[in-house]
Amino acid sequence: MRVAVIGGGVVGLSIAWTLSRDHTVTVLDPQPGRGASFAAAGMLAPAGEAWYGEDDLLRAGLDSLGRWPEFAADVAAASGVDPWLRREGTLLVGATEDDAADVDRVVTLLETHAVPTRRLARREARAAEPALAPGVRRTVEVPGDLSVHNRRLIDALGAACATRDVRTVGAAADVDIDAGRAVGVRLRTDRSRVTADLVVVAAGCGLAGVGGVPGGIRDAVRPVKGQILRLRSSYPLVTRTVRARVDGFPVYVVPRRDGEIVLGATTEEQGYDQRVTVDGVHDLLRAGIAVVPGLRECALTETLARLRPGTPDNAPLVGPTSTEGLVVAGGHYRGGVLLAPLTAAAVEAYVDGSVPPAAASALHPARLEGAVR
Ligand SMILES: Cc1cc2nc3c(=O)[nH]c(=O)nc-3n(C[C@H](O)[C@H](O)[C@H](O)COP(=O)(O)OP(=O)(O)OC[C@H]3O[C@@H](n4cnc5c(N)ncnc54)[C@H](O)[C@@H]3O)c2cc1C
Repeated sequence: MRVAVIGGGVVGLSIAWTLSRDHTVTVLDPQPGRGASFAAAGMLAPAGEAWYGEDDLLRAGLDSLGRWPEFAADVAAASGVDPWLRREGTLLVGATEDDAADVDRVVTLLETHAVPTRRLARREARAAEPALAPGVRRTVEVPGDLSVHNRRLIDALGAACATRDVRTVGAAADVDIDAGRAVGVRLRTDRSRVTADLVVVAAGCGLAGVGGVPGGIRDAVRPVKGQILRLRSSYPLVTRTVRARVDGFPVYVVPRRDGEIVLGATTEEQGYDQRVTVDGVHDLLRAGIAVVPGLRECALTETLARLRPGTPDNAPLVGPTSTEGLVVAGGHYRGGVLLAPLTAAAVEAYVDGSVPPAAASALHPARLEGAVR
């Protein structure tokens, strides 16, 4: 089949690379890899995102986490670019008694999903991560979590796509509909057409504005702003991802192999605003330093804001729509990097007419579109 993929973020590129095994793929994006995927901390950490009432999303995250080691190895082998998968796991940290109670609630939920966790005594926590503030009230280890370098991953996926002759077109596009069926895409630059047997829309927040996508799906996606900082330490400050709550404010510290430390992220309902604000940077630094005081010594190398594609139930929309020939893969909110391998496997199954992974069934867009499955 000829497949057109609108959007070249981590989701679109993962789909393009996976589909290009058996199909001829074109990716359309005016700025590939510069959307939310450019900001992402790269945590592959369903446990840290787990919350009550979102069991289907947690199951999807755990399924995708299990796919990551092979996915990362395959992308690295195909591209020659190592996305720096880290296996040191996560520490869930509660700074105050109230924060510790929140961590305990998450751990109870994780236990119902058989996710291994281990509560660390204060001395154990300090031994595991000496940079952790001595006064934190709760530390729980989640050894199964992974992380990846988001930008190396994007580069790797782009290079892997190139090895399979995926064509990239640097333009925004809408779905071209003829007689109620997707027949390709239409470029916004010159209105020219690229014909395709199947169109996949993986436009992140842009999904809300892609012409030809059913209204129920477009209306379901909203921007959720995230401000995030990149720091640099001259020595390894932490080895695990630290996900903390500080007076109710969630913050994470994600180490990279080269001394970079990612400190994130705010969650703001501000429409399409992508400004970095004094308040956002201040909140992140204050909370980060409260749990890892040594962050004070780091160089602040980057401040950035991007928009997460949020949905009403926080789960992505992955699957065929009521429009023939049109598949969506969007609304990945806080977990697009984590969920990329599952999303790509599900889209491949929908395209090839095979059975999609069970964990993907709850992500079907029909739940919001009202489309027939
Ligand atoms: C601060 C922050 C931290 C995050 N941390 C994590 C994390 O640690 N782990 C995790 O799993 N997730 C994380 N996320 C979420 C994750 O970044 C997103 O879920 C993921 O990047 C979504 O990928 P995407 O490819 O759908 O969207 P994007 O990366 O936004 O890509 C969409 C692409 O579509 C293109 N596009 C839009 N409209 C059109 C159009 N009409 N035609 C052509 N192209 C179009 C855009 O140019 C863009 O390149 C984070 C997000 C933020 C903002």
